[in-house]
Amino acid sequence: MNSPIGSGPLARRKSRHAVVRCGTREISIGGDAPVVVQSMTNTDTADVIATAIQVKELARAGSELVRITVNNPEAAAAVPAIREQLDKMDIDVPLVGDFHYNGHTLLNDYPDCAKALSKYRINPGNVGQGAKRDTQFAQMIEAACRYDKPVRIGVNWGSLDQALLARIMDENAQRAAPWSAQAVMYEALVTSAIENARRAEEIGLAGDRIILSCKVSGVQDLIAVYRELARRCDYPLHLGLTEAGMGSKGIVASTAALSVLMQQGIGDTIRISLTPEPGGDRTKEVVVAQEILQTMGLRKFTPMVIACPGCGRTTSTVFQELADKIQTYLRDQMPAWKTQYSGVESMNVAVMGCIVNGPGESKHANIGISLPGTGESPAAPVFVDGQKTITLRGERIAEEFQAIVLDYVKTRYRKEVAIT
Ligand code: SF4
Repeated sequence: MNSPIGSGPLARRKSRHAVVRCGTREISIGGDAPVVVQSMTNTDTADVIATAIQVKELARAGSELVRITVNNPEAAAAVPAIREQLDKMDIDVPLVGDFHYNGHTLLNDYPDCAKALSKYRINPGNVGQGAKRDTQFAQMIEAACRYDKPVRIGVNWGSLDQALLARIMDENAQRAAPWSAQAVMYEALVTSAIENARRAEEIGLAGDRIILSCKVSGVQDLIAVYRELARRCDYPLHLGLTEAGMGSKGIVASTAALSVLMQQGIGDTIRISLTPEPGGDRTKEVVVAQEILQTMGLRKFTPMVIACPGCGRTTSTVFQELADKIQTYLRDQMPAWKTQYSGVESMNVAVMGCIVNGPGESKHANIGISLPGTGESPAAPVFVDGQKTITLRGERIAEEFQAIVLDYVKTRYRKEVAIT
């Protein structure tokens, strides 16, 4: 954009381009590829059916990669069966295996697991102690080379390599002006990621098969660490605020941290680590990831509903219910609409509470409705592509508006069918 006022996000940081494969499907991470959304299951991986069902739900919600924990022999043995179940359901989402402590053994003892996974996540802080550490790390990288899998070297400050931290602290103590404890921690995180990536390359893993992450749970810490990581290497970066928390706190903290970084062109794939409410829906983390990317203008996934917050002019809940109903309807339709209508994910729908901003905002959207506020005549003008087309009245405004939206989608976004 050539504007004197604003120009959107900074140019994307230049990174290598990694490819994750699942059958014939390829997901690009880094380079010029769009930022990829990923998520992680919370089922027992050994429970094949429960895990396959949750992977399917996450994939249908829009997760482009799904990570599963592979923590014991039962989980490793289940991975090929999970893949098979997904294939039977036509779910071609790549599975990422999350390994800690015993990944070297599991990848060696369960070759079908190693093959069925599309990518491995290795935490260099949880690979082993002392002399065993290097050997076990090498065994995992060798498995990745053998089966041609990309690897995420995922550092986490909750499990930082203690030997490396001790080394960085010793180096710091030698400085004429020692760094703060916080700066030492940042340095240890970044160094752990980069040194292990270099080591993986020395072992034989191609540089474009490596993705890095350095997850921490504080917003400012995450921003500082990733800026430094981005400055010091060109591997694709997986962004995520670890242990972001529950509900609005987790969403706000993740959004704050990831938005700042992506605005600066940093980040090639994201995961939102929300703690679900008891019995809550795991797919929430996918929806939040998509909404961050879409509201920042970086990607488009589903039509967006623009709704005003309501105020003293809206004493009934009609407009809140309509906004909620339309948003849910649009999201529910997307899996089918994606295959039938091209560009529908760019559609904006405005649901506004009264005449003050209702008509104006509705005219800016593809379709908008301005509901009657308190004291206004009970009429709801509808605007399509900036023009007032109809005024709805009565008890069935929600149903009639939904029908107008569907009609608009069918005519405006229908895919052209080639006539041969
Ligand atoms: S559009 Fe009307 S109802 Fe909505 S916030 Fe503004 S004044 Fe209130």
